[in-house]
Amino acid sequence: MNSTAYKPVVALVGRANVGKSTLFNRITRSRAALVADFSGLTRDRHYGEGRVGEHPFIAVDTGGFEPVAKNGILLEMARQTQQAIAESDVVIFLVDARAGVNAHDHEIARLLRKSGQRVFLAVNKAEGMRYGSATAEFHELGLGEPHAISASHGDGVVDLIEHALSYLDDVHEADATEEPEFIADDVEPSLEDDDQAGHDTEPSADAEVSHRIKLAIVGRPNVGKSTLINTLLGEDRVIAFDMPGTTRDAIEIEFERNGLAYTLIDTAGLRRRGKVFEAIEKFSVIKTLQAIEACNVVVLMLDAQTEISDQDAHIAGFVLETGRALVVAINKWDGLDRDQRERIQRDFDRKLHFLSFAKMHTVSALKGQGVNALLKSVNAAHAAAFAKLSTPKLTRVLHAAVEQQQPPRKGIFRPKMRYAHQGGQNPPLIIIHGNALDAISDSYRRYLEGRFRSEFKLDGTPLRIEFKSSQ
Ligand code: GDP
Ligand code: GDP
Repeated sequence: MNSTAYKPVVALVGRANVGKSTLFNRITRSRAALVADFSGLTRDRHYGEGRVGEHPFIAVDTGGFEPVAKNGILLEMARQTQQAIAESDVVIFLVDARAGVNAHDHEIARLLRKSGQRVFLAVNKAEGMRYGSATAEFHELGLGEPHAISASHGDGVVDLIEHALSYLDDVHEADATEEPEFIADDVEPSLEDDDQAGHDTEPSADAEVSHRIKLAIVGRPNVGKSTLINTLLGEDRVIAFDMPGTTRDAIEIEFERNGLAYTLIDTAGLRRRGKVFEAIEKFSVIKTLQAIEACNVVVLMLDAQTEISDQDAHIAGFVLETGRALVVAINKWDGLDRDQRERIQRDFDRKLHFLSFAKMHTVSALKGQGVNALLKSVNAAHAAAFAKLSTPKLTRVLHAAVEQQQPPRKGIFRPKMRYAHQGGQNPPLIIIHGNALDAISDSYRRYLEGRFRSEFKLDGTPLRIEFKSSQ
């Protein structure tokens, strides 16, 4: 069985104004600042990486829940909420201690009981209330012991989340096996210890033989993901295939192409139908998020024949937040004339400039055009994400960059950068040591990033730089 233990999904459910988004903001560490740098990218505030206690998870704010709605937008909201409930591992059902139980809460409780999901009842806005008086009346919802919390003050939140996640530990003992992190010694380097020494610098194909390339093909519905998967698998021997398991288990399809081994992480619950795979469920944001988290390289698929949408931007935002290596595939390039192609290429370049570290390919999944070139970029992005960057070479590149352009002074301080070493992979993290490094500006940081990127050929992966001052 080839399954990946995924980050568990915690769905926040409840009627309007009980405090779902307040709780969501508290339990997710948003990298809003990072993402906001990229114009044109609207953040999806409904999905986020959970940052509470020891266990990583994905939090979903289901928005309003109007189970009695019969029409239009409210009905659609209820449908999405129900999908989120079905796809999550645990549900936190929020109610309002100050407003007390109402008919809506009862209705939601009924649906939750019917869902068969594990539900934790959180009585919010309980700050300053005696425990018993906050929770007493909510027993009648029939969902077990209520937990009194205050989302806005933080009271009880860590306990609640840890409680909910420890329930999962009991259910699935296996947890995500992360790629081994390369942590270089945090010591002053001897510059004589050179690149020849074996732990080398440039991403080399050799270093990657032992790594399967874990690939996720993501994108909104109908961009052509299944078509691409079938094109990729069609000519190749499919080594293993498993039927869908629980929400937490990813389906992985292994294949080889041009002598390299890939594991495709499925986002749609594919099923084999004769010779081809077909999606057995509609597009799922949760599955997409889990696949992005579980893979090493993302292929973000877009449709050349329709405008870039908010949903495309949201998915791109998730990729940026996780720091995964990325290749962009603009699909359905067939059937366009030259003028259209030029116009569309310009439009995508402009709108996707925030993904400038990623290679962009125009392809036709249907006709198999551009697919080999796309995979080449996937390989390169993977190699870049796992590149081993030696301390001597990093330090040499750093010194050369500084020699060419000094960091500006800030007040009486001039930042002094002494050496650099690698602090992690996937994405590569470069840690620069020196003095007064707080004074380094964003634009200088970008200058250094550009230098490291070109010297180490780090195409297709984000690159993180951290500064550590000795005093
Ligand atoms: P949502 O509609 O369920 O997402 O609810 P919001 O998170 O938008 O919160 C609705 C209102 O309740 C806002 O005015 C929040 O400031 C307030 N609120 C949320 N959590 C608490 C809490 O723990 N205590 C109090 N007193 N107010 C809260
Ligand atoms: P998914 O929802 O992302 O998996 O998309 P599908 O693979 O199911 O494709 C959606 C539709 O787009 C289908 O009708 C495909 O035949 C069509 N399609 C996929 N790739 C291409 C392509 O490269 N060119 C054209 N013209 N149509 C395509």
